Amino acid sequence: MPPTSASTGAAASRRPRRGEGQWALGYREPLNKNEENKKNDDGLNVRRRIIDIYAKAGFDSIDPADLRGRLRWYGLYTQRAPGIDGGKTAVLEPEELDDRYFMLRVRIDGGQLSVAQLRAVAEISTAYGRDTADITDRQNVQLHWVRIEDVPAIWEKLEAVGLSTTEACGDTPRVILGCPLAGIADDEVIDATPEIQRVHDDHIGSPLFSNLPRKFKTSIAGCSVHCTNHEINDVAFVGVTGPDGAPGYDLFVGGGLSTNPMFAQRLGTFVRPDQLSEVWAGVCSVFRDYGYRRLRHRARIKFLVKDWGAAKFREVLEKDYLGYALPDGPAPELDPGTRRDHVGVHRQRDGRNYVGFAPRVGRVSGTKLARIADLAEAHGSDRVRTTADQKLVVLDVADDRVDSLVDALEAEDLQVRPSTFRRQTMACTGIEYCKLAIVETKARGISLIDELERRLPDFPEPITVNINGCPNSCARIQVADIGLKGQLVTDRGTGEQVEGFQVHLGGGMGLNAGFGRKVRGLKTTAAELPDYVERVLRRFLEQKADGEAFAQ
Ligand code: SF4
Repeated sequence: MPPTSASTGAAASRRPRRGEGQWALGYREPLNKNEENKKNDDGLNVRRRIIDIYAKAGFDSIDPADLRGRLRWYGLYTQRAPGIDGGKTAVLEPEELDDRYFMLRVRIDGGQLSVAQLRAVAEISTAYGRDTADITDRQNVQLHWVRIEDVPAIWEKLEAVGLSTTEACGDTPRVILGCPLAGIADDEVIDATPEIQRVHDDHIGSPLFSNLPRKFKTSIAGCSVHCTNHEINDVAFVGVTGPDGAPGYDLFVGGGLSTNPMFAQRLGTFVRPDQLSEVWAGVCSVFRDYGYRRLRHRARIKFLVKDWGAAKFREVLEKDYLGYALPDGPAPELDPGTRRDHVGVHRQRDGRNYVGFAPRVGRVSGTKLARIADLAEAHGSDRVRTTADQKLVVLDVADDRVDSLVDALEAEDLQVRPSTFRRQTMACTGIEYCKLAIVETKARGISLIDELERRLPDFPEPITVNINGCPNSCARIQVADIGLKGQLVTDRGTGEQVEGFQVHLGGGMGLNAGFGRKVRGLKTTAAELPDYVERVLRRFLEQKADGEAFAQ
């Protein structure tokens, strides 16, 4: 339901002198280039142009407003032209950083893949993406080196198995996070699969939500260890047992990292499963109408939630959008927040097993994904899941097939019993492909894991090390034990500017929720990174009290 005329009238009378571009307060004129582009044409309309024009006429035919804007509505970003170092990221014009190839993000809502779907993604990677594939910490798969000419064929292949790239990027409702164990975990509060499906079917690709102030990240899960990190999503529905004993959801809004990180605020409402899609649309509509559009860096919902507070947000949602009050509800149980990744072999509630395993920093390949599909199928499973920690899980494995699957995965370097470092190090895309990056991340993350495994074998603590290539937080640096923010730093030996990291220490979620401390001067060059992390970890082991976590 849109805002009532009474509420918009009242809102307009409260119109601040210097507006933030909120539509509901009457600021409908675009206040920056991005808003102008979105007003000129809905991002969803670019699909037709890709099929009819760009794929036929090639890269040079792409309208610049589509190239650096609307293509994102279908998961396409130009990747970084090779060989441009991080020092040039901020000084070159966007077109000087553009490669003629694209990163393509395939949305995998709830991280749920059948073997056929995984195989389709694998085949697209090998046929059109130079065999590249990364599992992201939002359960997507990203491919690289994609040509615009091949996009229609890629969509055809994806859509034939029920996948898409619609609203995988852009100022839209992005992929919906869900627990990879939804429907199979013994201790889940609720299986959120129907609600994820419903929100997807009702709202993704709808022109009602295709022009948001900025991206909008959703998590819907009944996972007992909160593996989808509701604390840092724009909207999150967290499984709880309701006042009448039936399961439903607690509602959080306004979580986000990057600059001005904020944990999501609890609205204190109970949402029944059959209401969830409508409530999701209400929250998204509040963001669409009241979100700040003037400045891109203030356009996430967290800024609105911070200014309004949870009580006002709830009031506007209920009165102006839902038209009814939601009942109060209980808060979810807190979990220790240290390991949410579902790695290892564990029992399902139907007596079969799930097998979670860890590539390094999410990096796989089309060939490897095809191999995982083959292995799952050969071991009696038709269900593979991506996790929000750049990992994968095969479901439904019978007792007598587990050992064989574990051995076969480990033979592919996909470890089911990984070291702490393999298990809990994540890296964003970084300078290899990302135009915003200042430093390399994936290869560096992989070599850091190898070094730490060699130097600190059997390290006993669940330490997270997250590596970002720039001040954004795609790999969640502020909530890692050791968060590494890519930047240029001064090499003490040569005095030159080299790739390095600002270090954040002691972040976490769950019981230990807090943002890592950025200690002034705490920086390391990339070359010194393994030495630096080793020193921090050894000191922690020497000085920690019994049972003390890194973040305490
Ligand atoms: Fe790119 Fe920065 Fe995000 Fe890494 S954190 S993927 S470098 S925008």
